[in-house]
Amino acid sequence: MKMSELMKQRMAFSFELFPPKTEAGEKKLLGEGGVLDKLSTMKPDYISCTYGAGGTNVGKQLPVLEAIKAHNSTPVAHFTCIGNTRESIREQLQNYLDRGIDHILALRGDLPFGWTGTGGDLCYATELVKFVRDEFGDKFTIAVAGSPEGHIACRSLEADISFLKQKQDEGADYIMTQLCWDMDQFLRWLDAIRKAGVTMPVDVGIMPVLDAAATINMALSRNGCVMPRELCEIISKYWIFPNPFVSDPYDADVAGKKAAFKEAGLEYTVRLIDEYRVCGINGIHLYALNKYEDVAKLVEMSGIKDM
Ligand code: FAD
Repeated sequence: MKMSELMKQRMAFSFELFPPKTEAGEKKLLGEGGVLDKLSTMKPDYISCTYGAGGTNVGKQLPVLEAIKAHNSTPVAHFTCIGNTRESIREQLQNYLDRGIDHILALRGDLPFGWTGTGGDLCYATELVKFVRDEFGDKFTIAVAGSPEGHIACRSLEADISFLKQKQDEGADYIMTQLCWDMDQFLRWLDAIRKAGVTMPVDVGIMPVLDAAATINMALSRNGCVMPRELCEIISKYWIFPNPFVSDPYDADVAGKKAAFKEAGLEYTVRLIDEYRVCGINGIHLYALNKYEDVAKLVEMSGIKDM
C-alpha cells in the first residue's frame, strides 16, 4: 500500500536507518539477530534508508533496502540530486524498481563542504520530483522534505513553504519533516502550509535525544534548530566538564552523566511525541540511528507501535 494512502487512514509509524560504514556495522545491522531483525519485530509501516551525503556510501544503501523488503516492511529510499546526472538518476531509480522498491524520499541533498551547487543536472528537490513523475509516471510514491523552522538556507519561511507547495504540484505524495523541537514553530508552520494549499500528509521526523554531543551536533551543524529551554536544561544538568567533544573531558562522572542524560532525553522525546500526536499529524518517523535497545525503549514508553 502507498504510505501516503495509509497515512490518510491512520497514523503511520516508521524508522530511519543509514547504510553502515564498516563490515562490523553491516553485520550488526543486517546480520542474523541483528538490529534490523529486532526492529522488524515492532512491525513498522515502513523503514527508510539514507543516501550518503555528497553521494558517498551510496552503494551500501541497496543491500539495506533489500533487507528491509525481505523483512516484510516497505523500504523507502532517500535519494538526492548531489552529483547525479539525469541519466544516473534514471538508472538508479530503475534499479530500485527492478528490486521492488517503489517509495523514495526525493531530496536536493546536503551540499558537500565547499560546494555551491549540487554538481549534478538538477538543482532542487522540486526538479527531482518533476523528473521522477515525467520519467516514471505513478510507479513511485514520492516523499519530500519539509522544514518546520524553514530550511537553513531558505530566503524566507514563506519562500520555503511555496517550494513545498511546488513539490506537491509536481506530484509529491507526502512530507517527511526535518527535526523540530520547537512546538510553537511547528504549529505555525503546519497552519501556514495548510493555508498555502499543502494537503499532503505530514510524517514527523523524531530524533531520539540520547546523547548530548549528538543532540547539539544534529541541531546546529546543519539545521540551525531551536532548542527549547527544557532541552537546554537537560543538556546543562548533565554537562560533561569541561568539554563533551574531547576524549578526556576531566569529569569524574562521565558514565553516570551520560546514562542520566539518556534517561532524561528518552522522557523528553516521549513528551515530544505526545505533543506531536495531538497536532493532527499523520505519522511518526523515528531516526533509529541503527540502534535497537534505546529505540525499542522509546517505542514502548511512547506507545506509538499501537497508534
Ligand atoms: P530543497 O527543497 O530543494 O530546498 C533546498 C533550499 O533551496 C531551501 O532553502 C529552499 O527554500 C530552496 N529552494 C527550493 N526550491 C527552490 C527553487 N525552485 N528555487 C529557489 N530556491 C529553492 N540529505 C542527504 O544528503 N541524504 C539523506 O539521506 C537525507 N535524508 C533526509 C531525510 C529527511 C527526513 C530530511 C528532512 C532531510 C534529509 N536530508 C538528507 C537533508 C536534505 O538533503 C537537506 O536538508 C538539504 O539541504 C535540502 O534538501 P531539500 O530536499 O529540502 O531541498
